[in-house]
Amino acid sequence: MMGQMMQMPLMISSLLVHAARHHGDAEIVSKRVEGDIHRYTYRDAELRARKVAQALGRLGCEPGDRVGTLAWNGYRHFEIYYGTSGSGLVCHTINPRLFPEQIAWIINDAEDRVLCFDLTFLPLVEKLAPHLRSVQHFVLMTDRAHMPASSSLDLECYDELVEAESGEYRWPEFDENSASSICYTSGTTGNPKGAVYSHRSTILHAYASALPDAMDCSAKDVILPVVPMFHVNAWGLPYSGALVGAKLVFPGPHLDGKSLYELFESEKVTFSAGVPTVWLGLITYMKQNGLKFSTFRRTVIGGSACPPAMMRTLEDEFNVEVIHAWGMTELSPLGTLSKLKAKHRDLPVEQQRHILEKQGKVIYGIDMKIVDDAGRELPWDGKASGNLVVRGPWVIERYFKRDESPLLDGWFPTGDVATIDADAYMQITDRSKDVIKSGGEWISSIDLENIAMSHPAVHEAAAIACKHPKWDERPLLVVVRKPGQSLTREEMLAYYEGKIAKWQIPDDVVFVDEIPHTATGKIQKLKLREEFAHHVLPTA
Ligand code: ADP
Repeated sequence: MMGQMMQMPLMISSLLVHAARHHGDAEIVSKRVEGDIHRYTYRDAELRARKVAQALGRLGCEPGDRVGTLAWNGYRHFEIYYGTSGSGLVCHTINPRLFPEQIAWIINDAEDRVLCFDLTFLPLVEKLAPHLRSVQHFVLMTDRAHMPASSSLDLECYDELVEAESGEYRWPEFDENSASSICYTSGTTGNPKGAVYSHRSTILHAYASALPDAMDCSAKDVILPVVPMFHVNAWGLPYSGALVGAKLVFPGPHLDGKSLYELFESEKVTFSAGVPTVWLGLITYMKQNGLKFSTFRRTVIGGSACPPAMMRTLEDEFNVEVIHAWGMTELSPLGTLSKLKAKHRDLPVEQQRHILEKQGKVIYGIDMKIVDDAGRELPWDGKASGNLVVRGPWVIERYFKRDESPLLDGWFPTGDVATIDADAYMQITDRSKDVIKSGGEWISSIDLENIAMSHPAVHEAAAIACKHPKWDERPLLVVVRKPGQSLTREEMLAYYEGKIAKWQIPDDVVFVDEIPHTATGKIQKLKLREEFAHHVLPTA
C-alpha cells in the first residue's frame, strides 16, 4: 500500500517563496563592495531572484548550465543562488582566494557559461579571461553608476540585466535530484574536485542544520554568515536562513575586526558562523578597545579544529556560546556539531566543556563510523582512533566528471582520523596526512596546537611533522607570538609539561611573523612542511 500524500519535489526555490510569503518583511542587509549598506526584504529578494532567472534565460542559459560566481556575501550573490538553482541552472561558487591558475582550471572544468563577479574581482577576471574556454557572458555585479569606463572585457551590468525583466516568472518544478550547485574542494592534493549538490540534498541539509542540536536557527535570529558564500555555500545559511525566515546580514568584503564588530552591533546580530581564524581578528580588535557584544550570543565554529582557548575567550569574556562543528565540502558541509545531552546538564562545567570541545554528534541524516586500515569498525570508547567514514543523503556519491567512486563499501572516506566516545561524540585527532608519526605512535597535531593556543602569549600555532633519523617524524611547533609578547622556545616547551605525555611534547619551536593559510582560512600544513623540510631538530 502506498502513502497518499502530495507529491511535491523538494525545490530550492520553495525556500525563498516560503520566506517571501511567510516572513515577507524580514530583512536582508548587505554591506556592499561599494561601501554603503543595502537593505531589502525576502519579498524583494524573491522578486529579484525571479528576474535573475529571466535574465539568465535571456542570456541563453538552459537547464543544467553552470553559472559561476566570484563574489562576497551580499544580496546580489543571494539572488543568484536562488535565480540559478530555482530555474534549473547550477550555481557554481568560486573561491577567489585560490591561485588564478586554479580558478581558471575550475571554471573550465565546470564549463561555466556565465560568470558573475563583484567589482573587487574585475582585475582578476580580466586577467583570467583569455584562459576561459566556456564563458560567454561576463556580468559585473553592480549598478550602472559603478560600471568601469573601460575594460578589456565586454561587460554586462548585473543591475541593468535584472531591472530590465518583468519578474513575471513561475518557478519551475522538476526532479528534486537535479543538480543545484557545485563547489570545488580546495585541492590541497592535486586538482580541485567538484561536489555537485542537488535540490533534495540542499533542502534536507537546510532542514537538518536548522535543528536545535545543530545550528538552532529560527525566525527570532539575525544571522551574519562570516563564512563566505564561496566556502561550501556559507555552510548552508542562505538556505536555512530562508527556511526559518531569519534576518540575514551579509558583510561583503569587510571582514576585519572593526567592520565586523560594527555590523554585529548595528544590525543586532544574534548568530554567526566561521572558521577559527576569522575570530582571531575580531577578538583582538574587541580586546584592544574594551568592547562587548549586546545581542550576539552564539556562533558555529568549524572548518578546522576550534582551539579550546578560543572557546573559553568567546564564552567567558564575550558571553558567546561556541558550537564546535565538523564538516566537509563533500558533506554540504555539515556532519557533526557539539551540543550537550539532557544527562550532561548537571555535570561540573569543566566536564561539560570537555564534551563541547569535541566535534560532536551527527545530525540525523548522517551516519558515521571509524575503521582501521583494513576497513574493520573500531569501538566507540573515546580512545580507539581510526579513519572516519560517513554516509547520508547530503554526502557525495562521486565527484563531478570523475567515474571512479570514492566510496568504500558505500561509505565516504573523509581523510580524517577520529575517536568516537560511548555517547556518540566524535573527536577529530587529525587529518590523516597531518598526523605526526613518531616511532610508530601517532601524535595529534591538533592536541599540540590546542595547548599552544591556550598560552596567553600565543596568537596562532601549528604543529607539523619534521623528519627525524631515529623516530621517523617528530613534532615541530611553529608559533606566531601576540604583538609585544616575549615568549621563548624554552618557556613554550615547559608549558607542555604535565599537559600531555612527555614523548608527545614537540622537539622544537620556531617563531614566525605569519602562518600561511589556505583559501578557506585554514592553516596550510603542506606549505609549512615544505618550508621546514630541512629544519634540523636539536634532538636529531
Ligand atoms: P577545504 O577547506 O580544504 O576546501 P573542506 O572545507 O571540505 O575543504 O575541509 C574539510 C576538512 O576540514 C575536514 O575533512 C577536516 O579535516 C577539516 N575540518 C573541518 N571541520 C573541522 C573541525 N571542527 N575540527 C577539525 N578539523 C575540521
